[in-house]
Amino acid sequence: MERKAKLTTDKPDRGNLEPQKYTIQAGDSIYGIAKKFGLKPETILWSNYDVLHDDAHNISVGDELIIPPGDGIYYQWKENDDLQKIADKYRVQVEDILSYPANHLDMTNPEIKAGDFILLPGGYRETAVISPIVFEYSKNSGVKKQISGPGGCAWDYVAYGTGTFVWPSASHSVSGNDFWSGHMGLDIASVEGGPIYATDSGTVVYAGPIGGGYGIMVMIDHGNGYQSLYGHLSAVNVSCGQAVSQGQVIGLGGSTGNSTGPHLHFEVRYGGGYVNPWNVL
Ligand SMILES: [Zn+2]
Repeated sequence: MERKAKLTTDKPDRGNLEPQKYTIQAGDSIYGIAKKFGLKPETILWSNYDVLHDDAHNISVGDELIIPPGDGIYYQWKENDDLQKIADKYRVQVEDILSYPANHLDMTNPEIKAGDFILLPGGYRETAVISPIVFEYSKNSGVKKQISGPGGCAWDYVAYGTGTFVWPSASHSVSGNDFWSGHMGLDIASVEGGPIYATDSGTVVYAGPIGGGYGIMVMIDHGNGYQSLYGHLSAVNVSCGQAVSQGQVIGLGGSTGNSTGPHLHFEVRYGGGYVNPWNVL
């Protein structure tokens, strides 16, 4: 007969409950890595500050990332840290930290040494740089969240998309990167100063320079789950919060940001994920 005591003393199958290391491969993105491990992208970002510095674009092949066993913040304990203070700071409960299996803490007498890593399950912190990449992680792409940067604003829906999409540049050809797992948009041919058109009507949610390689960028929320993004512009013709109609000139082509020559970096997003623009154009 099986003894009940044995069942309870057996170590649970921890499976993926321990932190893992992951080496960045060609074509990886933080979003993709997070998906692979069933985690939120923010978890990957927040757990690897030394490598990523809060910017999802800072990934290079060969870099090693820590993959925590669950969503939250993977925190390196400092000298004189106080459990209650850390819990408050990252908006988690002390009991949740203590009882998290991978932390291996004694609930009655937790000892955490400086340098130890512990997971703050469900922990949250503000990200120093909210890049568009992070913005798009939101489940609801129409979230009324202000994008950080000089071109952002607290916006409200003032126009809605038709659900159809027109080419955003006079040229209809790809001049650089096509859509692939490491490049979530199309690099469309555009001359310096050439007109860039709104692919559909909507509300401008960003217009101006931004970090992360996009240079001068316009982003439009179409109010139907879709958003579109236009990068490397030389100038913007719209401002954040305003309504634009389909085909309206929103800016001029250029080569600002991480760009080796004039072209338009064009992204379409839906419901928090990237859409292959070829599927909608
Ligand atoms: Zn591009």
